[in-house]
Amino acid sequence: MDKQQEFVLRTLEERDIRFVRLWFTDVLGFLKSVAVAPAELEQAFDEGIGFDGSAIEGFARVHESDMIAKPDPSTFQILPWRAEAPGTARMFCDILMPDGSPSFADPRYVLKRALARTSDLGFTFYTHPEIEFFLLKDKPVDGTRPTPADNSGYFDHTPQNVGMDFRRQAITMLESMGISVEFSHHEGAPGQQEIDLRYADALSTADNIMTFRLVMKQVALEQGVQATFMPKPFSEHPGSGMHTHLSLFEGDRNAFYESGAEYQLSKVGRSFIAGLLRHAAEISAVTNQWVNSYKRIWGGTERTAGAGGEAPSYICWGHNNRSALVRVPMYKPGKTGSARVEVRSLDSGANPYLAYALLLAAGLKGIEEGYELPPGAEDDVWALSDAERRALGIEPLPQNLGEALALMERSDLAAETLGEHVFDFFLRNKKQEWEEYRSEVTAFELRKNLPVL
Ligand code: GLN
Ligand code: MG
Ligand code: MG
Ligand code: MG
Repeated sequence: MDKQQEFVLRTLEERDIRFVRLWFTDVLGFLKSVAVAPAELEQAFDEGIGFDGSAIEGFARVHESDMIAKPDPSTFQILPWRAEAPGTARMFCDILMPDGSPSFADPRYVLKRALARTSDLGFTFYTHPEIEFFLLKDKPVDGTRPTPADNSGYFDHTPQNVGMDFRRQAITMLESMGISVEFSHHEGAPGQQEIDLRYADALSTADNIMTFRLVMKQVALEQGVQATFMPKPFSEHPGSGMHTHLSLFEGDRNAFYESGAEYQLSKVGRSFIAGLLRHAAEISAVTNQWVNSYKRIWGGTERTAGAGGEAPSYICWGHNNRSALVRVPMYKPGKTGSARVEVRSLDSGANPYLAYALLLAAGLKGIEEGYELPPGAEDDVWALSDAERRALGIEPLPQNLGEALALMERSDLAAETLGEHVFDFFLRNKKQEWEEYRSEVTAFELRKNLPVL
């Protein structure tokens, strides 16, 4: 038994932990959990715990349903809302096949493979997500409009605002689980919050995002409200993005940084962005995986009818351009050695393991193939006409999930990075969602047509 495993077993005893939840994530990004008694854990570390994978979205076909969850002791944390004895703790798991080989259905393994390739190229990959979500008074399931939990706006700081108490409690809970928070504030829409996590290696970030979603829902319940990561719950308000800042390191040197270069951005950094842009449309079905995701990208808000509000609709990059898909944030004067790129397409309803694996693969492809970075867009690209955008070579992101899936289906990058199993399952599952949506008569059509036709 290694040191980390010993630490877990000792902590269980010292803290009187009676339940250990083994966590993993299905292909669509939903958290799954199986609880084991502490006495089972030694064996779980050795051999893992068997479960029926056929019941998990995207895992196994029925005739090969036996799968194994093997806990990763480095992810051990006590759940703060179950900390009093007898307490509950959790660990993330790797999913294995009965013969002990890693399961190709496990999103964590998809990301681990992409990270292994990255380290073969001499890099480590760091990510820093800005997670937006809504607090609602209710979550009606019959398709009627929810009510936001408050009426505040961007950076508002008002007493009696459920968001403030909420953010304080939520951040305390995250910190007690070893997840550091950098910023938090009220976002632009009523009820909308943003919490930004400190940068970490991409696997830890993806695990942290899964924990984050659960913690937000838990704290919301304790405060009598509901949290949602749905990309765009309101037509007239902005949606919830999960902008993520990306950087590659070579040892302890930031590989995107070059002193004196434009925006302090190295050749590696420029090619990485070029890769993100060239492959943005074909990976969009994963970075923006729901029918509703495209309402965020194209839906706009009361202030910006037609365009995506502050969500990117067009494939371009810019320095301080908030309509761009990729933004190179302002570097801090006097702070040398640091450079990062912010991807703004990703939304809060994505599977973070799969989305980070694909963003990484797209950027690496740019580096390996030496893609040239097209000129940056310093204008508001929504304000340009279609013809002007075409003249600048600025393409739109897919208009809807159907279009995104058609592009993904032809993508070698997506097939190679996700692996055949996840790629096929994902396309099958999402096509079904698209077909269901396509044949549904919506409130919009009834409102538009019934009175006049
Ligand atoms: N909510 C916007 C989005 O969907 C982002 C707003 C912001 O952080 N400036 O991407
Ligand atoms: Mg932000
Ligand atoms: Mg924001
Ligand atoms: Mg941002």
